[in-house]
Amino acid sequence: MFNYICEECGKGTVKEKVFEDYRTKIRGYLFVVDKAVIGVCDQCGAKHFDSNETKRWEDLYNKDLELKHTSLLPDEIEAVRKTVGLSMEDFAYLIGCTRQSIYNWEKKDREKPQSRMADLLIKLVRHSFEVGKVDIISFLVEEAKKLGITIAPTRKTPVPIGNIIPLNIKKVRKNYFQVPQNNLQLAAVVVEEKELTIVESPKQELTGILHYDYGTASLSLEITKDTFGLKVIDIDLITNDDKHYILQNVKVENKHILLLSDTEYTENKVREIILKPKS
Ligand SMILES: [Zn+2]
Repeated sequence: MFNYICEECGKGTVKEKVFEDYRTKIRGYLFVVDKAVIGVCDQCGAKHFDSNETKRWEDLYNKDLELKHTSLLPDEIEAVRKTVGLSMEDFAYLIGCTRQSIYNWEKKDREKPQSRMADLLIKLVRHSFEVGKVDIISFLVEEAKKLGITIAPTRKTPVPIGNIIPLNIKKVRKNYFQVPQNNLQLAAVVVEEKELTIVESPKQELTGILHYDYGTASLSLEITKDTFGLKVIDIDLITNDDKHYILQNVKVENKHILLLSDTEYTENKVREIILKPKS
């Protein structure tokens, strides 16, 4: 099957070798091939795969699946579809595939079963029809168990997706200096203590100060350090009493971001601010 010059090193010859219990992955799943024929370079050891041989592995895997009955059989898929009263076309829309795929999977003499993802989705549809509400993660964990795979998902805070900057909101006491109006008034500067609401980046760098203007009843964020090069952003703002504001396409002008206008939410009534820069 092999006996050609290795294209990896250009020196060795690829020789046929039989591997017992060869572990491979087929459609993302671990599969052990009893006797796998693989070409191995006699110089560099690089492995070379023959497409007929890997096709044979896939056929073995498919047969194995059918035998274990882990994936739904053609008539089972048809039964699920008819139970929810849908045509092939509409069922395809429901689960996000093509009508042709449904047709192939329901064919009695089909060449290969549906992908595991499609299989799980159809099983979920069936299960949901039977019991109503489904705990999807538990359902999928149980399905994995049938393949001898143990998965233990845990509940964590949602992982931010893409370019999302959650800001920490902090209260700080800050001495700020008031310049005397005339030198005679006071010899020294007046020191006044003021509480500020600052926001920090996830790296705990001071990013800005939250400011409520009682004159215009508006809440704004004054950027003190343009860490993120913000120009136009979406902002999620959550208040202490769980009001969720989604601000879209907010312009950053002169390091000033107007968050809310005509509002009663002062800087002390904001719990969370999440910045979502637009590219
Ligand atoms: Zn080689």
